[in-house]
Amino acid sequence: MRQLVMNEPGELDWTEIPEPDLEGPGECLVRPVAVATCDLDGPIVRGEAPIPGPIKLGHEGVGEVVEVGNDVETVSPGDLVVIPFQISCGECDNCRSGLTGNCLTVPPRSMYGFGALGGDWGGMLSDLVRVPFADAMLLKVPDGLDPVAIASAADNIPDAWRTVAPYLLQSPEKDVLVIGGAARSIGLYAVGIAQALGTGTVTYVDDDPVRLGIASDLGARPIEASVPPGPDHDFEIVVDAGASRESLASACCSTSAGGDCTHVGIIYEPETPIPLLEMYSTGIHFHVGRAAARADLPAVLELISNGGFDPSVVTDRVLPFEQAATALLEPHNKLIFAP
Ligand SMILES: [Zn+2]
Ligand SMILES: [Zn+2]
Repeated sequence: MRQLVMNEPGELDWTEIPEPDLEGPGECLVRPVAVATCDLDGPIVRGEAPIPGPIKLGHEGVGEVVEVGNDVETVSPGDLVVIPFQISCGECDNCRSGLTGNCLTVPPRSMYGFGALGGDWGGMLSDLVRVPFADAMLLKVPDGLDPVAIASAADNIPDAWRTVAPYLLQSPEKDVLVIGGAARSIGLYAVGIAQALGTGTVTYVDDDPVRLGIASDLGARPIEASVPPGPDHDFEIVVDAGASRESLASACCSTSAGGDCTHVGIIYEPETPIPLLEMYSTGIHFHVGRAAARADLPAVLELISNGGFDPSVVTDRVLPFEQAATALLEPHNKLIFAP
């Protein structure tokens, strides 16, 4: 079967590899029908993230179930399903408490599309994906939803959800600040989700005119800059998707007392300075870590299903699989590939 592989940064090739087989009665095989780029894919294929090849690429997607093991109860051949990027058993203590990105049954960081770092579970830019815990991991695509529109629900959309939704669901009408730039789609999805859930104001800061336009269309107040004008502690919810020392510091200093600041951009430094005294004085909650994609997926799909949030406004282009090897190396906010 085909699989898009990055051997070295900048070198992406469609490679013939053996098809996966079912390795247990709770597993299933899924044929990807829509695969989204993750905000990390660009840095990975350009060699800007410390993740070595070879990498079987693709970790956000929707697929059609083609074969199920004898113990699988929730999905059947022919079903369209979202394939969360993280491998999770659904039964360990972490999975049961919603930490599906930290499943205890599989090695740490087990996920599709990250090569050896993620445990070599394969990639979704391929003809077939093996899903080890089918009942726990897969969620059927709700009727009426376009797989292409929701391909990113496997990772980046729930990653955005966790930055704003828990706090808005507790208390709506909070003011939100999103600093965009690096986690390009996550910042925009956060804007859309916040607007859909009902919020005070949403301010979006970025130096890219295309993303500023999308944020504005989603209802945000756009500010063209790499970081907000000044520390003002004005926002109860702050999302740092900028991935720079400056955006991180600015995000922390923009969060109001008792507010929630989430860093999703990832800064690849062993030690990154943060304005701890400022944060301590203000008393903010700082969140960092990977999303728990499967745990938040039902709520994400419900929000999209009820028409509140349309993730497709963030998509630049929908392309055939064949163009993924070149398109991934070009600048983009969100690409969707369909076989
Ligand atoms: Zn990702
Ligand atoms: Zn688990």
